[in-house]
Amino acid sequence: MDKKIIESLVSIVGEDNFTDTLIDLVSFSYDSSGLNNRPEAAIWVQTTEQVAAVLKLANAHKIPVTPRGAGTSLTGSAVPRQGGLVMDMSRMNKILAISIEDRQVKVQPGVVFDDLNHTLADTGFFFPPNPASGKVATIGGNVATNAGGVKGAKYGTTRDYVLDLEVVLADGSILHTGAKTMKCVSGYDLTRLFVGSEGTLGVVTEISLKIDPLPKASVTCTATFESLPQAGKAVSAIMRSGIVPSVLELMDSPSLQAVNKATDLDLPEVAAMLLVETDGFTQHEVDWQMGIIIEALEGNGAIKIARASTTEEAEKLWAARKAIYGVLTRLNYNVLAEDIVVPISKVASMLEAVMGVSERSGVMIATVAHAGDGNIHPVIVYDGTDPEEVKKVKQVEGELYKLAIALGGTLTGEHGVGMSKAGYMGLEHDPVFMKVMNGLKDFFDPNAILNPGKLGLDV
Ligand SMILES: Cc1cc2nc3c(=O)[nH]c(=O)nc-3n(C[C@H](O)[C@H](O)[C@H](O)COP(=O)(O)OP(=O)(O)OC[C@H]3O[C@@H](n4cnc5c(N)ncnc54)[C@H](O)[C@@H]3O)c2cc1C
Repeated sequence: MDKKIIESLVSIVGEDNFTDTLIDLVSFSYDSSGLNNRPEAAIWVQTTEQVAAVLKLANAHKIPVTPRGAGTSLTGSAVPRQGGLVMDMSRMNKILAISIEDRQVKVQPGVVFDDLNHTLADTGFFFPPNPASGKVATIGGNVATNAGGVKGAKYGTTRDYVLDLEVVLADGSILHTGAKTMKCVSGYDLTRLFVGSEGTLGVVTEISLKIDPLPKASVTCTATFESLPQAGKAVSAIMRSGIVPSVLELMDSPSLQAVNKATDLDLPEVAAMLLVETDGFTQHEVDWQMGIIIEALEGNGAIKIARASTTEEAEKLWAARKAIYGVLTRLNYNVLAEDIVVPISKVASMLEAVMGVSERSGVMIATVAHAGDGNIHPVIVYDGTDPEEVKKVKQVEGELYKLAIALGGTLTGEHGVGMSKAGYMGLEHDPVFMKVMNGLKDFFDPNAILNPGKLGLDV
């Protein structure tokens, strides 16, 4: 990077917040996808004014800038694809305000998801999206990727909770979107435009979030099935019953077998297992809801239903679901967690199709699904050091995307597009959609400095 630019950056953020040492640049070249590309320098920003000054400088010199939270992206969205500068947001990590009667909090983007909920615990409220990476992922990253989690069917995703944003645009100007009210229709919904935009339209520097009352009671059960279509029928019956479970997770037989190989949980090696949770404010309420769900399970081919009557028993039922990802990472050198979504009624068909792809290609795929919102994670387990296998995995990925889209689904429900799905955007979206996306990008970031090479944009 040009010496004068480095001097200007140091004068904006201070010496302690600038780095171009090799060891730091190698770290900043990766996120959790395994994709990588090295930046020329990285900075930690601490104020909105610093973000604005840096973007103004970068824009004038056409230097690519990649915002970064905790780097837990599974799609390469935090990888500085075109080099340039990484802007690390993790030091903007203050909870600025908590207003329970207004049901909202205001945070800086570097606040870690779990830290916000730990702070809120005593208030009886919480911020629900709950990504599995919540111990480290930042709320700025959650907003930029529209993160979700196992409770999506009942509580939705990050998008459902963002009230307003402060965003620094590529030219350094500062935009305020939305309002600190529960309702707002004054003008275009720019807040929703920025949620999920993966740092390609602006850098988020402040976020107001709606919070929900924290449920005080829950009950968990598991149910096993002899076939995927049977489990799919049970999912549909639960969704038709009028009860919205707080968790409705499905694990297929390769997942159950993998957990058995690596743990002593001794799971039944059936075609599918459902994990269901209801939550609410009294034990009576959650038991009543679970009673209706158990009727739906019994009436739709569940072989065995296990219901937890204590917290310890519930933990045991959760153990298999919590173990899966870690177990799969131990089976081979690489895992690739896909993130397709199909209409809820098509979950079983998609799961069968995934197993068909695995059988035909010989590539191991173990699948877990947030069945309650149709979000399916086929996890491809493979040897990334074998070029032939890498080629096969690429083909498998393409097949999975095509199958999901043919069923009326989408490429991604939570992990985003990043680099890994950029080449497939045209498969899901028509040319008019891509033209509008490119037009918006061009309006907000005419020099294409913000996180270039993501989302399938023409940059
Ligand atoms: C083990 C594991 C489990 C996971 N489980 C889930 C899950 O259950 N649900 C889920 O949704 N995701 C999950 N993820 C993916 C990932 O954690 C989420 O996408 C998360 O929201 C990323 O947050 P981050 O702070 O790490 O952001 P990063 O990975 O650093 O960045 C992600 C994107 O956000 C942009 N960005 C970051 N901060 C800002 C900002 N302030 N302004 C503008 N753009 C910004 C980056 O440029 C990038 O495009 C998981 C990842 C791992 C490794």
